[in-house]
Amino acid sequence: MVDREKAKLVSCIFCGKELDASTAMRYQGAIACNECILAQKPKGSFEERPFFIIGALGALIGLFEVTIGVLYALVFTPVMFDFYIPPMTFYYCGMTVSVLLQGLGFYALNRELIPAASIACLLTALVSVITQILAIWDLIIGGPYYEIEGMILTKGFGYYSLTVTMYALFTLTVGLSIILYVGQTKIENVTVAASGMYLIGASFGSLGFLWPPVGFIHVLMYIAAILFFFTRTDIVMKGPVETLDYQIVEST
Ligand SMILES: [Zn+2]
Repeated sequence: MVDREKAKLVSCIFCGKELDASTAMRYQGAIACNECILAQKPKGSFEERPFFIIGALGALIGLFEVTIGVLYALVFTPVMFDFYIPPMTFYYCGMTVSVLLQGLGFYALNRELIPAASIACLLTALVSVITQILAIWDLIIGGPYYEIEGMILTKGFGYYSLTVTMYALFTLTVGLSIILYVGQTKIENVTVAASGMYLIGASFGSLGFLWPPVGFIHVLMYIAAILFFFTRTDIVMKGPVETLDYQIVEST
């Protein structure tokens, strides 16, 4: 009898309605009424998992492109010297697809809890993709050479500084978004590795691409990204609805 009187003093954390032992529910550590719990639970049925597979595929394409680019440079630079032409068109064609798919994967990452971070990832991915398409267009129309003060030079990453900067901005945004994601969930080695590699990749990328050292960093970055995406499960931690004595009413 005393317990029942006490229970009447419990109020819903959301709407403040007074609750007794039969109407008070426990949801994610809070005491609330059934209506408010239903309102708190995430609506819709957005599935992150397919996006994570798309993101992993994007990272896989990135890994392939960077690895081929590094090997190509290692083999042909010592043979061709000043006549070496980096495989820029091949590289940007693959990276356009890679960045777009990665952008979709990272969009899904914070979509439920930090939508601004999701949108930032997708927008920087799109801007990066646009500058890469412009670089491909320039290579097709203008060819692999350019002229400065009578000197014929080969177009490399230094020539496409805007494209490189936008790509670095994308990897920086992604690295920070993974840190925000880690703040919402538990810390795992693979997430720390992925965010760290993206941030290192961003800082090296902004210095201008120096193959092969930057390439090797990107190889590690994409391996971390593939592992990261494949180990993702649900983002929003859904807790069961329980009575005050922890009897599960509804598991989610
Ligand atoms: Zn309520």
